[in-house]
Amino acid sequence: MVVTNSQTRENQTALLSVRGIYKSFGLNQVLKGIDLDVSSGEVLALIGGNGAGKSTLMKIIMGIYTHDRGDLLLRGEPVTVANTAAALARGIYMVPQEPLLFPNMNVEENVVIGFTQSKAELHKELVAVMEDVGWDLDLSRKASGLSIAEQQMVEILRGILRHADLLILDEPTSALTFDEVKSLFKVIRDLQQKGIGIIYITHRLAEVFDIATDVAIMRDGIITIHGPVSDFTREDLVRGLLPPDAEEAVKATGSVSAVDYSAEPVLELRDFSGYGFSDVDLKVWPGEVLGVAGVVGAGRTEMATTIFGMDRVLGGKVLLSGVDITGKKTRQVIQAGLNYVPEDRHLNGLFKICDVAANTTSASLYSRALGSVFLNRRAEREVTDGYVKSFRTKITGQEQLAGSLSGGNQQKVVIGRSLASGPKIVVLDEPTRGIDAAARGDVYSIIHQLRDKGVSVLLISSDMEEIVELADRAVTMYQGRINAEFKKEDINQDNLMAAAFGIAGKEEIGA
Ligand code: ADP
Ligand code: MG
Repeated sequence: MVVTNSQTRENQTALLSVRGIYKSFGLNQVLKGIDLDVSSGEVLALIGGNGAGKSTLMKIIMGIYTHDRGDLLLRGEPVTVANTAAALARGIYMVPQEPLLFPNMNVEENVVIGFTQSKAELHKELVAVMEDVGWDLDLSRKASGLSIAEQQMVEILRGILRHADLLILDEPTSALTFDEVKSLFKVIRDLQQKGIGIIYITHRLAEVFDIATDVAIMRDGIITIHGPVSDFTREDLVRGLLPPDAEEAVKATGSVSAVDYSAEPVLELRDFSGYGFSDVDLKVWPGEVLGVAGVVGAGRTEMATTIFGMDRVLGGKVLLSGVDITGKKTRQVIQAGLNYVPEDRHLNGLFKICDVAANTTSASLYSRALGSVFLNRRAEREVTDGYVKSFRTKITGQEQLAGSLSGGNQQKVVIGRSLASGPKIVVLDEPTRGIDAAARGDVYSIIHQLRDKGVSVLLISSDMEEIVELADRAVTMYQGRINAEFKKEDINQDNLMAAAFGIAGKEEIGA
């Protein structure tokens, strides 16, 4: 149990004070007057959705970005932090979301790199620190063999050796397993005992009650809630995360879905398990848009890639229109009638150096209906033309290289490609992340068109509004399991958010 010591803290000067910070990128005002304090021995959890401005604020504190207005004070003194070296010199250290280690160097070499003192001196100091914190980490191990949690320990050691008295951890647990989270929390408690102030960024609400003494919620560039954790209930925090018009949004939904739930499901998962998710039971009916909400790292993408034959099945079954396709190869899954549009179209989705036409038809090379027709360039052009027109894809011509399109248009090419194989169901993974509002509207209308044609959509999205807008039914995934299901009339941001953060009714988390 963490004890909040806010009473004693009131008489104490904060380690760091942020006062009235504003920051815009071009026309995008990202921070709109941020006030925040962190004291010695405080663990401040900073939470907020994607794009709320958390990382931007931290980068300002670290001297990576400059702010437009406002002040930073260290121990009450106004300071200018010109760059990262200046931040380090003032005792501020940030552990980046992705640790940056040299894989061929060992733990010790990675910790001490960049220091000017002698290696022997540093070694002595490091051994003392290790004894002090009591971590079980072999200094001579190669970095390439470390788990993410251990890599983060290395980053934290770098901070300790630099005598940081303020440590910033930017979403450290998003890639960690349960045990790794536990060991990281022990590390944080140790540091707290030593009087180090910590800003701990997370999207997991439950962690706030586990590790933090104080909490701040950021939404759209403002702090909506700030104070000792003991002042707030989980419900308070969820409110702080939601947009102010959420109550309205809740009322605005409620249209009844037209899906025929007596038909045979198109897709059925039974006790389906794989890396990152387990025991998933799920049905999707013809023409249904099933929203799968959750936070990043909940296991949704892993579930999709495992269905799609890209990752190993660890248990259970996948049925497509009653046919068992469990563990089939990707091309067989496509032939059976399921296609997948991955989350990161840059990594997985698009052959950037191929043209639009080749990108549109590449998946249908495997398609049941079209056989090898698409080896034929003319047929390829016709199909592509159809999708370019109906999706309003802005291209100079089919020969344009896909990599040179805007994000929204790239996404349309990738979706078009998945439809060219004539699927019964498509899995769309974060289909509108990072694309502009106009393209988003187009993607929404593509989803409506699919539904009207009887094609089912499994819509994986971290954007709750998107699920409220599009889904006929929704489930939430939390830490690899489906933890809640909502009928159309019950889908609203409040319900989805609470369940996605693991605080919905039946599955109490924490511990
Ligand atoms: P969070 O960490 O809370 O997810 P960020 O601080 O990363 O949020 O982003 C907040 C907003 O600032 C987003 O709209 C993002 O697109 C924008 N943003 C962040 N960094 C930059 C940058 N270097 N240039 C332009 N826009 C940026
Ligand atoms: Mg961030």
